[in-house]
Amino acid sequence: MMTLIVGVDIGNSTTEACVAAVREGEVAYLGSGLAATTGVKGTVPNVTGAVRAIDRALGRAGRTYAEVDTILLNEATPVISGLAMETITETIITESTMIGHNPQTPGGEGLGVGVTVAFEQLGTLHPGGDDLICVIPAAVDFEEAAAAIEAAAQRGVTVSGAIVQRDDARLIANRLTTPIPIVDEVTHVERVPLGMAAAVEVAAPGRSVRTLANSYGLATVFTLTPEETRVVAPVARALMGTRSAVVVRTPGGDVTDRRIPAGTLELHGERAKKAVDVNGGAAEIMDALKRVQPLADVVGETGSHVGGMLAGVRETMADLTGDEVATIRIRDVLAADTFVPREVRGGLAGEFALENAVALAAMVRTSRGPIEQVARALQEAARVTVRVGGVEAEMAVRGALTTPGTATPVAVLDLGGGSTDAAFALGDDASATYHAAGAGDLVTKLIGSELGIDDRELAEHVKTSPLAKVESLFHIRLEDGTVQYFDKALPAETFARVVALTEQQGMVPIPVSHGLDRIRRVRRDAKRRVFAVNALRALREVAPHGNVRGIDFVVLIGGSALDFEIPELVAEALADFGVVCGTGNVRAVEGPRNAVATGLVEAYVREEVLA
Ligand code: ADP
Ligand code: MG
Repeated sequence: MMTLIVGVDIGNSTTEACVAAVREGEVAYLGSGLAATTGVKGTVPNVTGAVRAIDRALGRAGRTYAEVDTILLNEATPVISGLAMETITETIITESTMIGHNPQTPGGEGLGVGVTVAFEQLGTLHPGGDDLICVIPAAVDFEEAAAAIEAAAQRGVTVSGAIVQRDDARLIANRLTTPIPIVDEVTHVERVPLGMAAAVEVAAPGRSVRTLANSYGLATVFTLTPEETRVVAPVARALMGTRSAVVVRTPGGDVTDRRIPAGTLELHGERAKKAVDVNGGAAEIMDALKRVQPLADVVGETGSHVGGMLAGVRETMADLTGDEVATIRIRDVLAADTFVPREVRGGLAGEFALENAVALAAMVRTSRGPIEQVARALQEAARVTVRVGGVEAEMAVRGALTTPGTATPVAVLDLGGGSTDAAFALGDDASATYHAAGAGDLVTKLIGSELGIDDRELAEHVKTSPLAKVESLFHIRLEDGTVQYFDKALPAETFARVVALTEQQGMVPIPVSHGLDRIRRVRRDAKRRVFAVNALRALREVAPHGNVRGIDFVVLIGGSALDFEIPELVAEALADFGVVCGTGNVRAVEGPRNAVATGLVEAYVREEVLA
C-alpha cells in the first residue's frame, strides 16, 4: 500500500515542507516548498506559514491534501533569539537628569508628571497651577509628608508624584486617598532640580518601567522634538529594566552631567559566576562565557548601557512569548565587536565618528505551550492527521545524512537566522546538541549598522550578493577585479555606484559613500565574527570530550549555508582542527535546505519498517 507523507519543519525564519510517497519501506520524494515562518516559532500562528509551505510542496508534487495520509511536524526547539547593539563609550547627558533604581519598596504605581517642587513650598501653592512632583527630604517623616499631600489635594493642588529621600514610599502612599507613584531611597534628593518638568514612574512588582524607558514615551511626556528625543535616547536606554525611575528635564544647557557607564555583564553559570567589563570587548566576554559553561542566565549592571541592552532583550522576548520578564533566562550569548557611525554633536556638516560598540545575540529558552497545540491547529486547517515526530536536531542529522558521501560519525551545523545549532551523531541519533545564539540575522544587523544602512532588505542584499563598481554605462568591475561589458546601457541610477549583484533583482545600488573594498571587508568580517566563532563554539560543545579534533566530518545546512562565502569562511576556521567541512545536499537535490523536513520522513519510514 502506498502512503503519502508530508514533513514540515517550522524554523525561526523559514518553514520548509516536503512530500514523499512511501511504499513498503521505499521512499520517493515528490516535491518540496518553503515559506516565511508566521509568528513566533512553536506557536499557533505558525499554521499560516506551514500551510503555505505545504501548498507549494503539494503543488510541485501534483498532489492534493485529500491524498495525504499524515503530516509530520518537528518538535520545535523551545529557543528563540534576540539581538541588541550598544555603544560602549560612556555617554554624558546634559539636558536631563535622571534617577533610575530598584528600591526595595517604591510606593504607588503608574506614571506621574508635573513640575518639581520642594516639600516646604507645598503649603504655599494655590490651585490652578501646574501638577506637581513633590521632593521630600529625610527631615520630613512619612505622616507629615502624607498629611501635606492630602491637604494640598483638599485645596485643589494636584501632586502627581513624589521623590523621597527616606525608605518611606510605601508608608506615604498607603496614607493617601489617591495613591501616587513615589520613588524613595534617593540619597541625593537635594540635587533634584526644582521648578522643572519631571516624571515619576513606578512599575508593578516584577515589572520594569515602560514609559520612561522608551524614547518616545519620554518624547510624549515632555513634548520633545525629534532632535531633543535623540539627545535623551540614552536616558531611556539606561532606565530599561529598573522598577522605578524619575526623569527631570533641565532644558537650555542647565548642565547636570550624568555619565552612563558601559557596565559589566554578569554571567551566571550553573556552577560558577563571572563578571566582565563590557569595555574589554567581545573576546573577553566570550572567554568568560567559556569558563562558566553551562550558562544559566546573564544579567547586566542596572543603570548602565549593557544593563539597558539586556533588559531590552528580555522585554522583547517576554512580549513575543507572553512570559513574565522575570522568568526569561538567557541560555547563550554571542558578543561581537562592532562600531556605529554617530553624528558628531556640534559638527557643522553632519560629521560622523565611529564609536566602538558591542553587539549581543542572546538565546532564550521559552516556556511556551506544547507543540501539540500547533499540531492540532494545523490538523484542523489541513484536515489531515498531524503527528509530532522527533527532536529537531536528530531530524536535522537524518536529513543531512541523505547528502551523498556522508556517514556517521558526523557533526551537523545548522546555520539559520537566529541561531547556529550543532548536533553530533555517532550512530543514527544525535548524541549531543547545542544551540548557539547568533547567525544570519546578526550578520545582517552588523553589516547594516557598520555601513549606516537602515533598510534591512538592502543590508540583506549586501550580505548575500557579490559587489561590483559601475565604471561606465557599459561596463562594471566585479569585486575580484575582472571587468564585465554590456551591449545595452545600464540604468543611469547605477552609474559610478557600488552595486550588489543580486540573484532576484539584478543590480541594486548601495547608496553609501564607502568604496567597494570597504563594503566587502565589512561584509566578510561580519560573517567571520558570527559564523567562524559560532561554528567552533557550537562544535566544541558537542564534540567528544569537548575536543573539536574528535570530529572528522561536518555537514553544513540551513539558510545561511546557501551564502556564497559563509561555508568557505567556516571551513577555513575548521581546517586547523583537521575537520572536513562541506555544504549539505539533502537528497542530492535540495542543497542545504529541507534537512529537517526530510529527516522527519526518513525517521517515519524507518519506524514503519521496524514495526
Ligand atoms: P531557520 O531555520 O531559523 O528558520 P533558515 O535556515 O531559513 O532559518 O535561515 C535563515 C537565514 O538564512 C537568514 O539569515 C537569511 O538571511 C539566510 N539566507 C537565506 N537565503 C540565503 C542566501 N541565498 N544566501 C545567504 N543567506 C541566506
Ligand atoms: Mg532551521
